[in-house]
Amino acid sequence: HSEPEPAERRYRDLCRGGSGLHRQPHDAESARSAIRLPILIQEEAARGGRFSETPMEKREELYAGKAKSVYRTDNPERFVLVFRDDTSAFDGEKKEQLNRKGMVNNKFNAFIMEKLEAAGVPTHFEGLLSSTESLVKKLDMIPVECVVRNVSAGSLCSRLGVAEGQELNPPTYELFLKNDALHDPMVNESLAVSFGWAAADELEQMKSLTYRVNDVLKALFDEAGMLLVDYKLEFGRCEGKIVLGDEFSPDGCRIWDKETRKKMDKDRFRQGLGDVIETYEEVGRRLGIQFD
Ligand code: ADP
Ligand code: UDP
Repeated sequence: HSEPEPAERRYRDLCRGGSGLHRQPHDAESARSAIRLPILIQEEAARGGRFSETPMEKREELYAGKAKSVYRTDNPERFVLVFRDDTSAFDGEKKEQLNRKGMVNNKFNAFIMEKLEAAGVPTHFEGLLSSTESLVKKLDMIPVECVVRNVSAGSLCSRLGVAEGQELNPPTYELFLKNDALHDPMVNESLAVSFGWAAADELEQMKSLTYRVNDVLKALFDEAGMLLVDYKLEFGRCEGKIVLGDEFSPDGCRIWDKETRKKMDKDRFRQGLGDVIETYEEVGRRLGIQFD
């Protein structure tokens, strides 16, 4: 009986409750959640998908952001992203813990990153490790957020005094400096180049990738009865390439029901509309994502 292929072996190990990630013994909760294999992991593994060839060890936390934490691994080129239940808005002024949010956003993000990668957008996503953890490529993050809008909403309306809900044709493209203390001020390519945040050719690639994401995701949401109103992307550098990083989830985009225009994204939290995570899950289910 010959030794199984690496993909098969990984799948077998996954079915035994392994995850490709050698856990610290105290990480019992994560280890337990890895045993209940999310369908995405099974499918990914069965496809011989993008799981690490070499087992990994989760090491120290490098950074705890407002919603996710970044951990080093024993591979200097890989990080673990942990999606927490913490939610914040208005530069951290409004904060809450929302049950299941970490799990929902982790699986949502995995699904979208897979779709984008398949459509030719290079992403940092390597694979799900557990219900709240993903393995990603370590990126040298560019501190500029790229926002595309198909419909007017949010800061665009307050800034320009325009009504919410106007179709924007062509879709607009804006850049914001990632800086909480300054409330993420709007910037442009010229400022980004002069201050050395990114090179002109990098900004060019970020723009074309952000629009490519729009082509892919607008159609995806449309087919599922939803309108992709706007979204924010973050990019980083990896081996000389511009790669999509961070996350794509209802936390960083606006999604409306196509018929009723019901808000199905983080505006439910910002505006106190209730059923925040239930609605994120509804968006996911319409797209075909299976949660626990
Ligand atoms: P914030 O920093 O805005 O509070 P999060 O809570 O989402 O946001 O924290 C996640 C952090 O991890 C962000 O600062 C993001 O830029 C960073 N990040 C995301 N993906 C990667 C990656 N692949 N490599 C390095 N850093 C990343
Ligand atoms: N966004 C984000 N993080 C930010 C700022 C914006 O994810 O720090 C997202 C936001 O959820 C929306 C889009 O980017 O989908 C455009 O946001 P906008 O400029 O309207 O600002 P906001 O209304 O969120 O203050």
